[in-house]
Amino acid sequence: MIGDTPSFAMARTAVMTVSFMFLLEFARQEGVRRGLKLPGRWVHVVLALVVAVAAIEGGPIAANVLARYAIGLVGALGSGLLFAWHARALSGEARRLSISAAAGFLIYGIAAGVVVPAAPFWPASVLNHDSFVQFFDIPIQLVRGLLACWIAYSIWAIWAAQLIEQVSSEYYTAYLRRQFVWTLVAMVTVLGCGWTLTQVLGEIYKQNVEREANGDIDLLASRLAGETASVKGMVKALGGSRSVRGMLGGGRAEDRERAQAVLNLDVDASGAEHGYILDQAGTVIAASNPQASGPSEVLDFGNFSFFQTAMRGTPGYEFAVDAATGGRDFFASYPVRAIDGRVIGVAVLKKSLDAFEVDLRGFDRPYFLVDPDGVVAVTNRPGMLSRALWPLPAERRAALAQQPGTPNVAPVLTSEITDATWINIFGARDYARRRSVEHSQWSLVMLKPTQEIFASRILGIVITLLVTIMTLIYISGRERSVHDQVQMAKRLKLQDLARDLRFQATTDPLTGLYNRLRFNQALAAKMLRSMRSKMPFSVIIFDVDRFKQVNDTYGHQAGDRVLVRLAAIVAERLRASDVFARWGGEEFVVLVPDLEGRTACQVAEKLRVAIEQTAFDGVGATTCSFGVAQYDEDDTAESLIARADLALYRAKLNGRNRVDLASWPSAEETEMASVA
Ligand code: GH3
Ligand code: MG
Ligand code: MG
Repeated sequence: MIGDTPSFAMARTAVMTVSFMFLLEFARQEGVRRGLKLPGRWVHVVLALVVAVAAIEGGPIAANVLARYAIGLVGALGSGLLFAWHARALSGEARRLSISAAAGFLIYGIAAGVVVPAAPFWPASVLNHDSFVQFFDIPIQLVRGLLACWIAYSIWAIWAAQLIEQVSSEYYTAYLRRQFVWTLVAMVTVLGCGWTLTQVLGEIYKQNVEREANGDIDLLASRLAGETASVKGMVKALGGSRSVRGMLGGGRAEDRERAQAVLNLDVDASGAEHGYILDQAGTVIAASNPQASGPSEVLDFGNFSFFQTAMRGTPGYEFAVDAATGGRDFFASYPVRAIDGRVIGVAVLKKSLDAFEVDLRGFDRPYFLVDPDGVVAVTNRPGMLSRALWPLPAERRAALAQQPGTPNVAPVLTSEITDATWINIFGARDYARRRSVEHSQWSLVMLKPTQEIFASRILGIVITLLVTIMTLIYISGRERSVHDQVQMAKRLKLQDLARDLRFQATTDPLTGLYNRLRFNQALAAKMLRSMRSKMPFSVIIFDVDRFKQVNDTYGHQAGDRVLVRLAAIVAERLRASDVFARWGGEEFVVLVPDLEGRTACQVAEKLRVAIEQTAFDGVGATTCSFGVAQYDEDDTAESLIARADLALYRAKLNGRNRVDLASWPSAEETEMASVA
């Protein structure tokens, strides 16, 4: 848009070189990781220096070409080969994706590292952007862009495949696959809309520029018209003056004097530089201020078209550049007629364009007043005077070349501006407008610099990039949140499972009480604490009396119901700090903290009575026998339980449905308990 100025070309080349270095470094690191003998990081410094030297010696294009050959080509081909190598160890989709990335990099290597800008050395002189466009009819930049998209998508897909494998959740897999498609759709949409927006913004500005330029050139033309209007009007008065007619017709001395006076007056009044009265041959017979006119003053206007036009009876106007003095003038002529209407001579006023030029020096846009061939006669652009804006006809070029002070004959533009056009000039892109000057073949050309068109396009590009980035952030954010959700769900499921297992391991499935394992853990912990605190605690074991008969009479299921009900009755009457467990079969055990055996017996008694008084569904009354033992410092868990068991055994022997307290352990009793 702004044209490729040398500094911009340098900046582009620098950015490109650095980006190629990243690619090369990727290939280098990956190669080293795979055990290849490759140069160290210093290689980038060397390559950067080579490109810098090329930039200094050969300019941005040489640097660009060299960076592509030495860094871009090597980096891209290296990356491609490494992906291909990587693919050999894979299978299935991962392999396909890796091959796809490899192919993308290899082709990109050719597109970016072999097809280079045209440069005056081999192979850039043969294989370059221009020859590529000629052959394939598409710009290489488009190919590179598409390849970059291909590579990016392949690598993204490889990464996604790894994520899918890691997470291994069907939901996540489906999500990622959907997201892959949606991202493609979103990117195409965003870029498409962005392109359109950029075009529209550029177009709006372009139309503004064109409208403004049209207004500007009209203004310029009217300034010029104002400059010439006074001489156009005055020359008419001069041509119609009776004394001028008299001078040309007869030549009375009185007429001559009067005519000279009118001439001088008209020149003064119109702001013209000179005035002339010409005879039918075009020879000057009277001139204003004859004493002021220098030797170079033309005395014969026979060949000037304004004279010939006037001789045909119509006013003639002409811009002219004096080859000898370089003066730029406007001539206005008017026929002088005899009484019978015959044209007997011509009145001429000549106005210099210097004032117009000085006036417009401050005009902020470049303008050119050009002759019919496009050679600049008046301009506010220094150095452009006498230059041809567009190619001249051959004879004119030869004539110009012979002029003193040999003007630059090389045209500024390659083709003529006919009306309005967008051109690249002075290293920038401008809107050029041409408008012919009335009553002449000369024309005005004006340039409208269009830096702002670039700015408004940049706006479109920036908006597009922002939307793209926001879209990508949203997409990757969604992906992260889905990823986290899936992981969280998995963790919760695992936790549930663990809780379930622990629950099953410590709970009796029939009664929901703790099982023997859990009771033993609680007992061991209680013993440790009691050893330190010297606080007493007791254990109650009880067993359903004659339970076998219940089963035999009412069935096993009725027996189960009795056990469940029994557990509930007992649990209701215990404290939260008591540990109540099913010891096995129809035996239960309670750990009562802080109580001595005697007090624990009262608890057991309470339980016994509660059970005795309960009518069990379909079974009726049932009783239990209880054995109680207080913990002693010398007790092990086994001996404590054994003593309680022994007490229970005694209760059974003594008639059941009663509570018995174990005595303090004696050596033989403990032994007996162990044997029992
Ligand atoms: P006593 O203890 O008063 O000497 O007589 P008993 O009939 O209860 O004696 P024993 O220990 O010989 O019998 C216990 C019976 O308890 C044997 C078994 O069938 C029954 N039993 C053990 N566990 C369960 C159970 O989970 N459900 C049912 N329904 N019966 C069980
Ligand atoms: Mg039993
Ligand atoms: Mg029993």
